[in-house]
Amino acid sequence: MSAFIPGSKDLKPFEIHTPSGPHASRSTSEACRICGSNGASRTVEAREHMYGTSESFRYVQCLGCGVLYLASPPADMARFYPADSYYSVRGMRGALRRWAMEARDKSYVGESLLGRLLAKRFPNSAIASTVALAKGRKSRILDVGCGSGDLLKSMARLGYVNLVGVDPLLQGSTLSDGVQLHGGEIADVPGQFDLVCFHHSLEHIADQVGVLQQAASKLAPDGSVLVRVPTSECLAFTLFGEHWFQIDAPRHLYLHSQKSLEIVANAAGLEAVSFSRDSQPMQFWASQLYADGHSLVSPQAKAYAARYSTRFYRRLSAWLNEQGQGDQMVVRLRPLWA
Ligand SMILES: [Zn+2]
Repeated sequence: MSAFIPGSKDLKPFEIHTPSGPHASRSTSEACRICGSNGASRTVEAREHMYGTSESFRYVQCLGCGVLYLASPPADMARFYPADSYYSVRGMRGALRRWAMEARDKSYVGESLLGRLLAKRFPNSAIASTVALAKGRKSRILDVGCGSGDLLKSMARLGYVNLVGVDPLLQGSTLSDGVQLHGGEIADVPGQFDLVCFHHSLEHIADQVGVLQQAASKLAPDGSVLVRVPTSECLAFTLFGEHWFQIDAPRHLYLHSQKSLEIVANAAGLEAVSFSRDSQPMQFWASQLYADGHSLVSPQAKAYAARYSTRFYRRLSAWLNEQGQGDQMVVRLRPLWA
């Protein structure tokens, strides 16, 4: 274990700097917000690193269920989602990149040889997991926290015809590239769906059980909920501690373990029927970038991405996913009564 100095340039990858020693675990009077345990917990002070404001936020990890959560969300949370630059509401840029990514996406419905090669090199886990659970192109799919709807628009280009997205950062209701987009919350969306997706959105939502209850209530018979989220049970959190990029303070309110996700799912009338992982080399490069004191929008980010996006880190990520130690999980939920 090495002592950690914030902003230290000497920090090497794979040094463990999570809290350790007698102060790591302590009992707090505050019960865990997910499992209700009053048992041991530890605190992690994480800084805002996406834009580099460097404000510090206290997270609590319950050592009973494993969840890591933001202790006190800031009252002015909107400040951390700037409308002109927050990535989920920015469009895709570059015609060549767009063409290559469309070829890649087609590989998930088996239509492009070139795409299959691109998919191996630059996988799109969002599309792969959605296509895997959708029951054909007429499947009614709702994407909760869809941002500008890029995933759904990619699905529309693959021939999917019943696509609806909702995001609080959108305004009004529009039909865009074959996709119905709504500004607001899941409760505002009418209709029933064969698949309700949360692609890295659930961790941003304060009412974890309430939003999953809403998702369950919108399922057609034999429908599923797909949840893709960062998970606190991973090597990257062990290695990088408070610099693990998926903490994304203060935007990420809950970083679940398998156990804590099952607790909120069950409370919402859902059960987990499968867990897998789909982490990428970003778990290394972005976390090392943050450990070295840079932000995601800094000029250094590109070089870090290049340094860690090698075959070694892609294979390491794939191996961690197989071992259940990658930093993102993919969970299929079904109604408890189904
Ligand atoms: Zn707990």
